[in-house]
Amino acid sequence: MSGILNIKLENILDLTKEELGGLLLKEGGKKFNANQIFNWLYKKKAVSFTEMSNLSAGMRAATEKLFEIKYLTSGKILTSAKGDAVKFLFKLGDGHKIESVLMLQPYGNTFCASTQVGCAYGCHMCATGKMGLKRNLSPGEITGQLLAAEKEQGEKVNNIVFMGMGEPLANYDNFKKAVLIFSDPDGININQRRQTVSTCGVVPGIDRLISDGLRVNLSVSLHSTFDSLRDKLVPVNKKYKVAVLLKKLQEYCKVTRSHVSIEYVLIAGVNDGIGEADNLIKMINKFCLNTKVNLIPVNPVDALSPSGEETIKMWQKKLENAKIISTSRRERGADILAACGQLAGEE
Ligand code: SAH
Ligand code: SF4
Repeated sequence: MSGILNIKLENILDLTKEELGGLLLKEGGKKFNANQIFNWLYKKKAVSFTEMSNLSAGMRAATEKLFEIKYLTSGKILTSAKGDAVKFLFKLGDGHKIESVLMLQPYGNTFCASTQVGCAYGCHMCATGKMGLKRNLSPGEITGQLLAAEKEQGEKVNNIVFMGMGEPLANYDNFKKAVLIFSDPDGININQRRQTVSTCGVVPGIDRLISDGLRVNLSVSLHSTFDSLRDKLVPVNKKYKVAVLLKKLQEYCKVTRSHVSIEYVLIAGVNDGIGEADNLIKMINKFCLNTKVNLIPVNPVDALSPSGEETIKMWQKKLENAKIISTSRRERGADILAACGQLAGEE
């Protein structure tokens, strides 16, 4: 049997424009062919090379020989009761399932992308963590979530948050490619400053963001400023302690001039006392962090319950008195399990 039948075509959605351009040059193409193809894929949502009418016949044949356009297949799509959040379940080629959420807001839509199937970091309150890590997502599986969602809903996304399933900085190379593909002016064209990566505190990953010159916003899932408690809630803390993480956040802010923020999940009777609030303020001041704090009442997973209104108000007041900006809202989409920490790839 001819060997050619066994050649596995590369998913073109896994490539940055730079990489695609390099491969096309080898086929006798020109650099601008990569721009044209990006336009077709990401702006016009083409699903076949035959649609790409401004490519020469030779170029089209070459691309068809090398690549396939592997769209994600969406399974269940759930819309929240208020209509402000849509959760997508995607089935991957190998049967794994991932989830993403489109949040519809009057001031622009935000897309929450997954970067891994499951997660190895095992944070105490997180449904994704309970699955363990199954595998990393490829760049095209990360960007493909947004492509499919935009195509399906006819909506344009304005902001991206890497806050779905998985730890983006533990899948650094693929995550970085996804950022570059998303921000490409010939493609989705969402500036890096409109992309936010959330990490549980993988300090070497933050170093790589800095040394690679990325300019995405950085959000750290802190949840406690006491090492003894954070060791339990966010086990990566055993390796990178609170002070080390906050120092790195300070460096990131200084070098990249991007926004940094802190996510603080409030769990009743666990990390929501006055002492915790005071220490958070002390640490933010100690590291001179110009940061916003997002207070998130924990979404019920296992037996954990969210802090009450009074407690949340106390936190807000304290932060306000310390001149630290905070946000606190019940998260959209909790009724369809589309909120943070509730994504577990279940139907
Ligand atoms: N792995 C990264 C990106 C995932 S973002 C990170 O941890 O930052 C998911 C966010 O939801 C994180 O801030 C996480 O701490 C938070 N989260 C996890 N479980 C949650 C829960 N039960 N309720 C509310 N937020 C939760
Ligand atoms: Fe992983 Fe983030 Fe969940 Fe922790 S909170 S288990 S790092 S996805």
